[in-house]
Order: sequence, then structure tokens, then C-alpha cells
Amino acid sequence: MLRRINRWARVKSHPADAVRTLTSKLPATYQPIIRPLIERQSDLFGVPQSAFTGGGTASYARSSFSEDDVIDAEIYAFGSVLIILCISETLRLSHERNDEGEIVTTEEKSCTVRLTYAVPFVEDPDVAEFEKILAEIWNGIEFRDPPSRSRRLREMAQGKQNTTRLPTEGELDAAEALSDKSVRRLAIAIKSSSGLLLGDAPKQIPPRERGRIDAIVQLLIDKGLVDTEIVVICRDSSAQVNRVATADVLNGLDKQGVRCACGRPLSEEKHEKALSVTDFARSMLDGSAWLSILVLQYLLNFGVPIQSVRMEQEYSGEEVDCVAEIYGRLVLFELKDKEFNLGNAYSFGAKVGIFGPDVPVIVTTEKVGADARDHFARSAVADRRSRRYATEDPVGDGGIKFIEGLDSLKVGIEGIVTEIAGAALAPQLRAALSFSSAHPAALLAAWAGVERSSTPE
Ligand SMILES: [Zn+2]
Repeated sequence: MLRRINRWARVKSHPADAVRTLTSKLPATYQPIIRPLIERQSDLFGVPQSAFTGGGTASYARSSFSEDDVIDAEIYAFGSVLIILCISETLRLSHERNDEGEIVTTEEKSCTVRLTYAVPFVEDPDVAEFEKILAEIWNGIEFRDPPSRSRRLREMAQGKQNTTRLPTEGELDAAEALSDKSVRRLAIAIKSSSGLLLGDAPKQIPPRERGRIDAIVQLLIDKGLVDTEIVVICRDSSAQVNRVATADVLNGLDKQGVRCACGRPLSEEKHEKALSVTDFARSMLDGSAWLSILVLQYLLNFGVPIQSVRMEQEYSGEEVDCVAEIYGRLVLFELKDKEFNLGNAYSFGAKVGIFGPDVPVIVTTEKVGADARDHFARSAVADRRSRRYATEDPVGDGGIKFIEGLDSLKVGIEGIVTEIAGAALAPQLRAALSFSSAHPAALLAAWAGVERSSTPE
């Protein structure tokens, strides 16, 4: 997995040779990458390092990573964390007329220090030491986390409140239990029956799974999804005449003179155990809420903040199962506890058209049908023709991503988050890497000896 953490600070000015000083102050656990790359290339080309770093801004290969001008950069490998440091300086000129009517140009310099951490794990990396040493060089610098605005999510929600909350332990446990197909099938069968006799339970699951029936029933009871009760069946008519929570209740009813329509005391009738779903189970099964909970939990596990996820809401008249804004990219999830068919493809295609997600994702517990795949392939060709020029690093090929089968759910969501984080990290990495490559003109000038001729040997 991969996460991006951005930190930045505005400073009055940059100390001279700030990056070099920082590198010299850092312990050996921080491996700089750009400077050694320059040294090595300078050796290989046989030209002075000034062809890479000297001679002012002209020798830098520029990147258009932001409005700022990056004036120096370094990359540090720190354990498994990659630290990208970019320092930038922007000169803003403003022209105004003074009282005498003359045009006066004023310069305003804006300096920033940007840190980008590429983190291949969920926990926050320990970078306190790094930022402390940084603060010694840029006196008293204070880093801020850029606010996570989730702009596109807010636009899409049109002022609707985000009702998404963290799943409870019990919900997660139940969702995991229900992700087992046989467990889920039995739960759904119990829900649609008005109390399923225990003896009929094995018929609800595939024959090869029937050996597990006792364990499955027990799991449903343990997770609070299913209650058991006693059904009283009349020995004469074979009709179910009563339901009670436990057999003990029947003795009490006998004493109070409650009897079956046939005249027998209830305790003497046939008793069978029956299963019924709890209200909790209904809430988990309705609209495949258990699947939504699993998707939400995996998103959270892979570092997506809960404010950036919205579950099961209606936007512009469309039911949206799950939408997340991940590093500024809108990801639209469609969840199906069945095969994803052509009809589903049309309806999802309409949602993609309305919301324009960067990454549309279909999660199905089964498969995406061949006709649905064909439909997406055809519309992808049409879409590619009309795709606008993107300034951001693209995520994938712009096509719809399929996650088929629950075994692929975790790894599928991890892959999507990692890919988006990679695309989000790319501009900063590119900006920093550009400092390790020479400007061709500066390199060739050095190679031709132009620089050497001006400094006699
Ligand atoms: Zn009876």
C-alpha cells in the first residue's frame, strides 16, 4: 500500500545552501538521493558538478509541478519512508501608479518549504526528528498539513450532510461473518421465511456445505444475527400453533391452562427449534449493508479519512453506494451482492456520466457478466475520443475497475488506493528528480569545454 502525507510551511526566505546544510546535519539513517546522483553523473560525464547544480537557475530542468518555482530539492530514503523536500521561491511583481502618475513596480517574494512523505504503511511515520532538524535550518519553521477539502465530494453532495460513521465492532464482526456465502445465504433464507425450522436449514445452502450447518447456525447466533425460538407443532394437524422463546415457558402456559386447539397441553405437542433474524440482521442484510461496511472499513484501513467517504446516499436522484475522494480523485463504487449484469451496466454508466468520477469501481460478490464487460468496452472507446486533456497524472487507463469476488475485495481496494496515491505523489517526485538531471545545454557546454576555457587550468 502507499500513502501520501503533505506538509508545508511559508518562510520569509531560504538560508543559503539550505538543502546541503540539511543533508550534512541529518544522521546517516537519512540517505540523500539527488546529490549522490549528481556526483555520480558528474563522474561519468567527466564534467564538473556545476553543469548540474551550478550556474543558477538556467541549469535546472524545470518542472511545472505547481505555480511555485522549485529552486532546490532533495529526496531522502528514511527506512521505508521516502521524504521529498522541495523549496520554492516565487517572485510576484505588481505594477501600480503612484501619486505622481508614474508606474512603480514592487516585488514580493514568497518562499515555501514543502515536504511530501511517501509512506508504504497505514500508521503515521515518525518524522519528528527530521522536522526538528529542518527547524534548526529554517529558523522556527512551523509545518502545517494542507487542509483536506474534499472539494469534489462536497460538490457532488450539493450540501447534503455526510452521515457516514465508523462501523462498530459488532457490525464489522457481522459483516465479516456474512462475507461467507453460505452464511449469507442461510441468513437471507431465514430473513425471507417467517421463522425457519432448524431441520430445514441445511436445504438452504449448497449440498457440499451442509456438513458445516451447525457451525454456520452457531456463527449467526454468536454474531447477534439470528435468534432461536421454539415452535409448537400440533400432533393432530401438523400446524404451527405457537412460538415461544424457550421450552420452559411452555410449562408455565400449561399451568395457566393454555392449550392447543386440539385440546392437548402445549408441552405435550411436538417442539421444534426455529431460527429468526434479529433487527440487527435486517439492518445488515438490507441493501447489502454488510458489503458497504466491508468496503468502508478497507478504505479506512488503507488510510482514507472517514470525512472523505460517503456511504449510501442519494445524489441527483441516483442511489450511490459509496463515493470517496482520495487525494483529490473521486472514486465511485457500485456494490452488488450478485452477478453484475447488462442492466446494472447501463444504470452504472448513467451514474458515471452524471458524477464523472476519476475512478469508477464495480464491486461484485460474483462476476461482471460478459455482456456488461462488452458494454463498458464499447462505451470506453467513445469516452476515450471525448476525454479532455488532463493536467494531473492519470490513474489507470480511465476505464472501470472490477473487483470480482470477496476474496479480491481487500487487495482490490488496496490496489486502487495505492495507484491513486502513486499518481498523487508523482508530481512532487518528478519535481525533485528533475534536480538530478542536467540541463542539456549546460551539460553540453561543460562537455565542450566552454566552461573550462574560461577558467585556465
Ligand atoms: Zn394440537
